[in-house]
Amino acid sequence: MPPAHPFDDDKLKEECGIFGVLGTVDAANFVALGLHALQHRGQEAGGIVSYHPDHGFNSARRFGYVRDNFTSQKVMETLPGALSIGHVRYSTAGSKGQTAIRDVQPFFGEFAMGGAAIAHNGNITNADALRRELIERGSIFQSSSDSECIIHLMARSLQRNIPERMEDALRRVEGAFSVVAMTRTKLIGVRDPLGVRPLVLGQLPTGWVLSSETCALDIIGAEFVREIEPGEMVVITDAGVESHHPFRRQKSRFCIFEHVYFSRPDSILGGRSVYETRENIGRELAKEAPVDADLVCPVPDSGTPAAIGYSLESGIPYAMGIIRNQYMGRTFIEPTEQIRNMGVRLKLNVNRALIKGKRVILVDDSVVRGTTSRKIKEMILDAGAKEVHFRIASPPTAWPCFYGVDTPQREKLLAATMSEAEMTEHLGVDSLKFISLDGLYRAVGEAKGRDASSPQYCDACFSGEYPVKPADMIEKGFEMKAAE
Ligand code: SF4
Repeated sequence: MPPAHPFDDDKLKEECGIFGVLGTVDAANFVALGLHALQHRGQEAGGIVSYHPDHGFNSARRFGYVRDNFTSQKVMETLPGALSIGHVRYSTAGSKGQTAIRDVQPFFGEFAMGGAAIAHNGNITNADALRRELIERGSIFQSSSDSECIIHLMARSLQRNIPERMEDALRRVEGAFSVVAMTRTKLIGVRDPLGVRPLVLGQLPTGWVLSSETCALDIIGAEFVREIEPGEMVVITDAGVESHHPFRRQKSRFCIFEHVYFSRPDSILGGRSVYETRENIGRELAKEAPVDADLVCPVPDSGTPAAIGYSLESGIPYAMGIIRNQYMGRTFIEPTEQIRNMGVRLKLNVNRALIKGKRVILVDDSVVRGTTSRKIKEMILDAGAKEVHFRIASPPTAWPCFYGVDTPQREKLLAATMSEAEMTEHLGVDSLKFISLDGLYRAVGEAKGRDASSPQYCDACFSGEYPVKPADMIEKGFEMKAAE
């Protein structure tokens, strides 16, 4: 398993990426490439399932990076066929940091009408209740992953074919779910009724692709066709794409944090370039929170487009004041105390010649616990900066996410326990400002900002307003924000 990198406890982490291909020889090779392009969405483990009429269903599930597991001929030869799906994961609820290989997706179920494999991005917010009910009724679970509930619910459905059984199962599930699934002849994609997590459709000369993000279509030369709509199920065969709407129609609540941080900057979300949106966020931030300074520097890499936007809007020169060591990886990061204490210095180094004597604006995507921000501030001051001003490309993260993103418990989130002034003092910086929620909405294209009576996105980690009640967490004692 790849070791934790120095920021691992101080970033929100997307938990999964999903990818599927139908209609091309050795589809699993395309899936491996797609998963490689989605590696930023999960680095802990990956899995691929394929189907070949002569060899049936085959699967390979491994810990670690896609490039270390799904590039060997020996592994890929075990995954023949023109139909394949795959999954990369950080970790799902129930087994954080102690994943067993049985928790690695895709999951497989054998039904009377044939087998089906399924991979899921998101989080089922009523999984505990469903699991209890299914176990009482005789289901035997093999993993601690909540996604396995979907397979068991499908097994209990009385519908005659697999897509209909999947519809039945997903109607019982609450939360955020983008799903790719396959039978012997079909590739299936589904998004939850609010469309919280992304899923897009692409086309190859001889086939079809489903992917969490468009950047993974590019790597295999597939053309972007469209996003799967919130609440839509697509059933893809050699004959083409069929669209179903099995759920009650609801207003979309896509995850706004995908625009800020999770998605790759070369992806397109909702018809908008993620890179351009992040640059817009930087521009909004410069309008909302100007400060007199000499340089605008990104915290690499995720703060880069917003820092460029801030610089363009403010006219303050952009500079690479912090350099990321791209190759600091598995080889050197041994889990010894001495090396762990080096913390962010393993990954980032300050460009002293540039920083010395300067008033520096540092642009980062978010502040979660604040531990990394403090260390970076110390490094900048050690390098001789005169002033350090933090500008953050998201509003204060004050609430946990229950929709497929790994967040610390609420009391560990800096913004949950401190005001902006207290955070400024705690981090020891000259100033700290976050983009406002309205400013963020404007940057993603909502000219009038956030519609408070019916928000256009999910923004629960900032607002505390959860579009789907996190039932399991409430049962475990989580307290929702009191109604205003
Ligand atoms: S709570 Fe935050 S991270 Fe989670 S889905 Fe909503 S906006 Fe995205």
